[in-house]
This record gives sequence, C-alpha cells and structure tokens, in this order.
Amino acid sequence: MSERTGLDLNGKRVLVTGAASGIGAALTRRFVAAGAEVVAADKAADAVSALADELGATARVVDLADPGDADDLGDGADVVVNNAGFQHVAPVQEFPPEVFAAILRVMVESPFRIVRSALPGMYQRGWGRIINISSVHGLRASPFKSAYVTAKHALEGLSKTIALEGAPHGVTSNCLCPGFVRTPLVERQVAEQARLHRVPEAQVTEDVLLARTPVKRLVEPEEVAELAAWLCGPGTTSITGASLSVDGGWTAN
Ligand code: NAD
Repeated sequence: MSERTGLDLNGKRVLVTGAASGIGAALTRRFVAAGAEVVAADKAADAVSALADELGATARVVDLADPGDADDLGDGADVVVNNAGFQHVAPVQEFPPEVFAAILRVMVESPFRIVRSALPGMYQRGWGRIINISSVHGLRASPFKSAYVTAKHALEGLSKTIALEGAPHGVTSNCLCPGFVRTPLVERQVAEQARLHRVPEAQVTEDVLLARTPVKRLVEPEEVAELAAWLCGPGTTSITGASLSVDGGWTAN
C-alpha cells in the first residue's frame, strides 16, 4: 500500500503514455508507488526503458503518431492515462499542415484507439478509469497554438462520450486540465514564446505564461499525478465526464 495517501492499486494494471518525461514520468512514479503494475509507453526508447528499469515498470516503445502503434496498447489495462503530447507554436497561416495532423493523431486518434482496446476488458471486470491529460487549452484558446487547442478540445469531447458509454459498466472518464506545468514541454515553449514576443526568456514565465494565472508559480508534475491517482481511489464513482482544472486559477479569470 502506498504510504502517501493510503491508495492501494495492487493487482491493477495501469497504462501511462508519454511516460518518459514530465507529467508522464510523475504519473508512472505515482502509480508504481500505489502498487500498480504500470506499462510505461513512449517513443523515447532510452528514457522510457531507463525509467521503467528504475521503477520496476514495463516499458513499451511506441510512436503514437502512427495510430497502428496504439491499437493494442490498452489491452488488459484497468487504468488508461492518455498523456503523450507535444506542442507546436506558429500563427495559423504559417502552421505546417503535417504538424497539425500529427498533433491530432498523437493527442486524439491514438487515445481513441487505446481506449477502444481497453474498454472490453474494463466492461468485463466492471471497473475502469480513463484519465485524459487535457489542458487549460481544452477549455480556453491561446494564439499560435491552433493544433494543440483543437486537439485538447477534441479530447474533452472524446472523454465525455466515453463517460456516458462507460457509466453502466463502472468505467469513469475524466480530463485533467493543467495550466503551465514545470516540464520540458514548457521549457521549450518558453524559448519559442521569447522569440515570438521578442522578450528575454527570463521574463516569459511571469509576464507571458502566468499573465492570466492568479497563483504565480508553475504547477508541479507531481500535483497532476496525485489528482490522477486520487481518481482511482474510493469514492470517485460519480466523478465522470468532468474536466478538473489544476491551473492556479487561470480559468476562474
Ligand atoms: P513532455 O514533453 O515533458 O513529455 C511528453 C512525453 O510524450 C515525452 O516523453 C515524449 O517522448 C512523449 N511523446 C510525444 N510524442 C509522442 C509520440 N508520438 N509517441 C509516443 N510518445 C510521445 O511534456 P509534458 O509537459 O509532460 O506533457 C504531458 C502531457 O501534459 C501532454 O499531453 C501535454 O499536452 C499535457 N499538458 C502539459 C502542460 C504543461 O504545462 N507542461 C500543461 C497542460 C497539459
């Protein structure tokens, strides 16, 4: 049993995508700490293998830009955490169509395919948790992030539909909607935003990233992982089809 919240996921199989870095690595650590058997999936072969070896998880090297790689990934999972994702920042008129399509494949089509493979087993066992790592950008738009905002809004719709279908089978589906989290994805954006807004990188976090956020600090990956783990614990059956913000008050604005 985990010492952190008393959450006991012994005997549960958890799939985490995008497990090699940032929020995915924190999710993998949290679910292993809760006693789950974790499959850590990522395209970064060395990083995901090293993390899995360290934690006693199982590594799966997959490229979710190739939806075929997603087709059997959810087989046997009791918990699916759709977390893999990436960002590209450019005005719509300059946004490369092939990058737009890849973002939708990784962040919408592959989650659909993964859940599609997981649901029959969950329905049979009468219990399951689908946790979609969405974003504030599943609820709000920002300029220069057309593909990411489109993908996250689509993921929100997919999550709610799964919630409706899964309800009679003990399966919940929710989105977690973080604001800016301290991960490599955000560190890359700081550099891109600095270029777009023509300000030094040091100013970007406070003046650009946290401009609409009352809590003036980045979210830590562990905070997102803790909420995901909590959704797998007792007393959560009625929490489904929800979008849970972890954004320092951004969307209260
Ligand atoms: P990250 O860049 O640190 O990690 C993302 C992981 O996804 C990487 O390990 C990467 O290899 C993997 N990945 C990317 N493309 C893949 C593919 N085609 N196939 C398999 N794996 C792939 O990013 P992060 O900040 O930890 O983001 C994780 C999730 O959280 C993403 O869905 C992101 O949109 C979401 N999110 C992040 C923030 C933030 O501020 N960091 C905020 C809200 C939501």
